[in-house]
Amino acid sequence: IPRKRFGQHFLADTAVLDAIVRAIDPQPGDALVEIGPGLGALTQPLLERCERLTVIEIDRDLAARLRRNPALEVVEADVLTVDFRALSEARGRPLRVVGNLPYNISTPIAFHLLEQVDAIADQHFMLQKEVVERMVASPGHKDYGRLSVMLQWRYDIELLFEVPPEAFEPPPKVDSAVVRMVPLPKPPAVEPARLGELVTVAFSQRRKLLRHTLGRWLEQQGADAAFDLHRRAEEVPVHEYVALAAQLDSAAPSV
Ligand code: SAM
Repeated sequence: IPRKRFGQHFLADTAVLDAIVRAIDPQPGDALVEIGPGLGALTQPLLERCERLTVIEIDRDLAARLRRNPALEVVEADVLTVDFRALSEARGRPLRVVGNLPYNISTPIAFHLLEQVDAIADQHFMLQKEVVERMVASPGHKDYGRLSVMLQWRYDIELLFEVPPEAFEPPPKVDSAVVRMVPLPKPPAVEPARLGELVTVAFSQRRKLLRHTLGRWLEQQGADAAFDLHRRAEEVPVHEYVALAAQLDSAAPSV
């Protein structure tokens, strides 16, 4: 019986599973890590393409089932506590992280990985479509916000394809989509906490000009930044937020 508190919706559509595996395109030496393998719908076809696979599963009963397969390294844990840098060191290479994620914690998972992005080669996830739309949104789009800026600062992000509820058992109430996230090779250096704070303030009142929100905050910080505040938060491109955060970093090195 699927456990609702763990967001358990198992993939049942083999065409969708094939499409995900093709998108991931696993190679024999890859350090693959699957989050939330569940009953192994995605795990099995992945194992056909690579000799080893690390899986992270919180559900004790599912983890016990998965341990029967000697090709799997089973980490029975809450993914939000997992040290991906340690996993990457153990495998001797950056990780390829995949999974049909529990939707109730998909944003916390994305931020947990962002903090350890130096240990990651790429990420392929099934997520709630609405969350993917926020991840990939460009300036001027209604979905452009904090999540878009924080993730696009560090990743190239692409919505690969949409998946209807009927592909799952039991079907979720929302549409889903598969997203690819590839860390950018040379991201601008900035303190993530400062960028996060800045973007939270900027988008706190999306309809107002930044002068009213960010302007006041910058004043409180004693910051003397050259930045056009006669715009709304959703009009400002990612690189401008990052440049502003970097400017604040150099003015005050700690958050
Ligand atoms: N991958 C399977 C599939 O596609 O059929 C299951 C996907 S289901 C949407 C999400 C899985 O993540 C479940 O197996 C659930 O037990 C597991 N899970 C939920 N919360 C988790 C957490 N915090 N850490 C690790 N796994 C979790």
